[in-house]
Formats: sequence, structure tokens, C-alpha cells
Amino acid sequence: MKIPDALTGAIRQAQSVLLVAHVSPDGDALGSSLALARALRGMGKSVSILDKDAVPRIYRFLPGWEAVSAELPDVSGGEPDALVLLDCGELERTGFKSLPGRVKLVVDHHLTERSYGDVRWVLPTVSSTGEMVYNLIRALGAEIDAKTALCLYTAIFTDTGGFRYSSSTPSSFRAAADLVELGVKPWSITENVYESISPARMRLMGMAINGIRFHDDVAVIVVTHDMYRETGTTDEDTENFANLARSIQGVEVAVFIRQTGPESFKVSMRSKGRVNVAAIAETIRGGGHHNAAGGKMDGTLAEVEERIVVALKNARRDSQS
Ligand code: 5GP
Ligand code: MN
Repeated sequence: MKIPDALTGAIRQAQSVLLVAHVSPDGDALGSSLALARALRGMGKSVSILDKDAVPRIYRFLPGWEAVSAELPDVSGGEPDALVLLDCGELERTGFKSLPGRVKLVVDHHLTERSYGDVRWVLPTVSSTGEMVYNLIRALGAEIDAKTALCLYTAIFTDTGGFRYSSSTPSSFRAAADLVELGVKPWSITENVYESISPARMRLMGMAINGIRFHDDVAVIVVTHDMYRETGTTDEDTENFANLARSIQGVEVAVFIRQTGPESFKVSMRSKGRVNVAAIAETIRGGGHHNAAGGKMDGTLAEVEERIVVALKNARRDSQS
């Protein structure tokens, strides 16, 4: 994996580093941040980790998660030498209006083109930011101890859906093999991530599955505020709902519509490969990957559902003609 010299150079030179990942952090965002933080601290640097949203309960097995702060660090003594954006390539995705850092670096694997930062290392074909950070730590010559390995493995594991997606390449498996050699217990991570569903979340899932609507080969799964109230759940309990709807036989694209306000929704899309959902996400204030992308839409639920289904139909008609 070719890493820009400007990136490794800037990190080597920095004494203080601020790591920031995207809002609603997932396993890749958190695993990458925590792993890079540990490795850089091992090199004698002072590191802070920032995320606008709290660490979801299911990721609280990751060593060091308590240190992830939601508050911008005090910069009265000066800006950090380097800012590193992880698993996102733009300021908007971090949820902050501005971020301090004498040099601004981006380490990301999203398809969506952005221009933020002085040095951008963006590899859309790589499985995860975790896989990139694994290679970055190796290039820096820093140590990967068992805890760092656990964070990196979780990042790669979650972003490849447990090594199932087409993004799982020989280099992802090589990284994973190395991390297992360094002490990672795969089952322990599987259990934490995929086999620790709370009864309330399982009920929400049942309710959402019952309500799945089909528009030809597009499946729409919805979660509303009323459903959270009825089951005693929160938005954190909806992880992987979009994948659930995609897993249905004959479904090409799944759309997960999650209510965020009276007439505002978060829209997540998952494709089996024939439709590039990142391109559609760009039209709804979002972005992502070919097979997994998301954005935001306003209106009533019926309007949002109608608009996104039409957008998907149009995109496919255009790509066929
Ligand atoms: P999810 O649907 O699980 O929220 O996200 C799927 C993929 O799309 C992730 O890689 C995520 O970064 C990207 N994505 C989801 N929502 C947004 C958004 O609002 N803006 C951007 N730029 N990317 C998003
Ligand atoms: Mn990622």
C-alpha cells in the first residue's frame, strides 16, 4: 500500500496530534482512531481523540474508548501540530464547524470526492480505514500491541461485514492474519459486535422487519420515533438494519429510513453491486461507497420513501440506457 511521504513525514514531525472521526461513529471510525492513538502514544506523542457523538454501547469493549471526547480540546496553549481526520474526508461529516491543527491530514476510504486537508490519503478500494491505519502504523515503525491489534481487527471486521464484502482483499486478510497472530481472539470480537443484541433491540428489529415494503427489487425498512418509544430503544439500536433488508432474496437495493426529527430522516442504502448507491447519496447531502452509502432527507415519511425509490429507479434506468 503506497502511503504518501507527506503523510508519514507530517505525523513523524508532530508532537501533539488530534484524531477526529465521523458522527455516529462505527467500528471502523472508533477502531481506527483508538488504534492510531495507541500507536502514536507509543511513539511518545500526545494524542487526543474527538468524536461529536458518544461511543455506542456495542463498541465499549474497545480498549481506550472512555478517552474519546465529544468536546473540542482547549487550544489556548496552541493548536495541535497535526489533525488527522479518520474514516471521513470532510469537515461536515465530523459534525464540527472547524477543527484545530497546524497541518490537516485525511486518512479515508470513501468514494465521495472532497477537498478538505493539506494531505489527503484516500483509497476507495481499500476495505476500511482500519486496514489503512494498520499499514500506516507499520510504515511509521510503531508498535502494534495486543490492544492496538484488537482495535484494528474490529475496524476491518466491521467494515467488511465480517470479511464477507467484496472489499475483503488479500491485503485485508493478511492484515487480519497478522492481527490474530498479535493476540486478537476473533470470536470475542464477533460476540461483542454481532451476538450481543439486547432484547429491546431485537424487538425493534422484529417490528422493522414486519414493516418492510417492497418496490420491485428495492426493499424499504423504516424506524420511527414511535417505534423507539414502544420498544425502549434509541438510534444506536439500528446498526445493520439496512443490511438486514438487503439480505432478502431478490432484493437488489435496500433503503433504511430512520427518523431524526418530525419531518427529517437519515437514509442509508445498501446495494448488492449493480447500483452505485454513493452516486444517489451525493444528491441527498451524503456520500459513501458503491455498495453502502447514506444521506439526509426532509419531508413526511411517505414523501421521503417515494422520492428515494424514484431516485433509485431513475439511476438504474439511466445506467441501463
Ligand atoms: P450508513 O448507511 O451505515 O450510515 O453508512 C454507510 C456508508 O455511507 C458509510 O461509509 C458512511 O460513511 C456513508 N454515509 C452515511 N451517511 C452519510 C452522510 O450523511 N454523509 C456522507 N458523506 N456519508 C455518509
Ligand atoms: Mn469505514
